Amino acid sequence: MGYQLEKFVFGHGWATDLLARAIDTGKLSQSVLITGMPRLGKTTLARTVAMALNCTAAEKPCGQCAACRKILDGNHPDVLLSDDDDALKIEEIRTLQHDLSLTPHESSHKVAILANFDRATTGAANALLKTLEEPSAHVILLLTARSTEQLLPTIVSRCQNINLRPVAPAVIEQLLQQQYHVPAGTAQHLSRLAHGRPGWAVQAHQNPDVLARRSEWLAEMIAVLRGGYVERLAYAAQLAKDSQPPAAILDLWLSWWRDVLLAHNRVSAPMVNVDTEDTIRQFAQGLSQAQIAAVIAELKKTLHNFDFNVNRRLNFETLLLNLPRLNL
Ligand SMILES: [Zn+2]
Repeated sequence: MGYQLEKFVFGHGWATDLLARAIDTGKLSQSVLITGMPRLGKTTLARTVAMALNCTAAEKPCGQCAACRKILDGNHPDVLLSDDDDALKIEEIRTLQHDLSLTPHESSHKVAILANFDRATTGAANALLKTLEEPSAHVILLLTARSTEQLLPTIVSRCQNINLRPVAPAVIEQLLQQQYHVPAGTAQHLSRLAHGRPGWAVQAHQNPDVLARRSEWLAEMIAVLRGGYVERLAYAAQLAKDSQPPAAILDLWLSWWRDVLLAHNRVSAPMVNVDTEDTIRQFAQGLSQAQIAAVIAELKKTLHNFDFNVNRRLNFETLLLNLPRLNL
């Protein structure tokens, strides 16, 4: 019997190998916590584990059998998925626990995938602890989160942690060309901008709005750094209404400022935001190391604050007012 999780997950070879071996030897932990940046492939990995556990083909998962197709379509009765952006409340955990207590309909396992578990309220996280402490033999819990920092230590300590790292641009480029038939030049460009996130690259290929929004967020950030108090408060109000998660904006700005830092230090590593190379070089030359480091520290602090559900507008206002005014 073979398990080939890497067929459905791009990059993260060590993680697919480890999980495939664990499933093969019957030693898969009943509670797995997959951490890493948004769009790295955490939920895809969790779903692939669910497929491997339920697949009826010889080489699992196949993606073709009835069980695999139901899981891919999100309607397998024994694989429960919660992956929206809303806060995860205690009532949802109670319903989940009831579902998990029932005998599986079509397989030997009941799998629950709780994506972005950082959105769980303290009450919900505490409620889940009971299931983590005394899981029924047929239950597998797969949690995902940006990092372990925002989770209750009691949750983290009861899970096996798989921490996903950014995927090499060459792997993302190959994914885009082979699976999505993206022309070579575009695939290379998107793989650079993706900053290690295969899911982002695929989304940017499928939806032109993703690239357009990215360009706008960068141009707006550069403009607002040249502006004063009034412009900054107005822009904070605009960002407060943006439907995208704050991390999508802040991760982009962080990657841009890391490019500025690399250029400032003349590090030869390839730039992520190659399309704004001229502006990056201008900022790298015009600013001191300390100024660049201060901006990066502010962005990281803001990202951290959002993890604790601080008011969106207030958080952006604080960030923008704390950033230096740059006459570049
Ligand atoms: Zn299958």
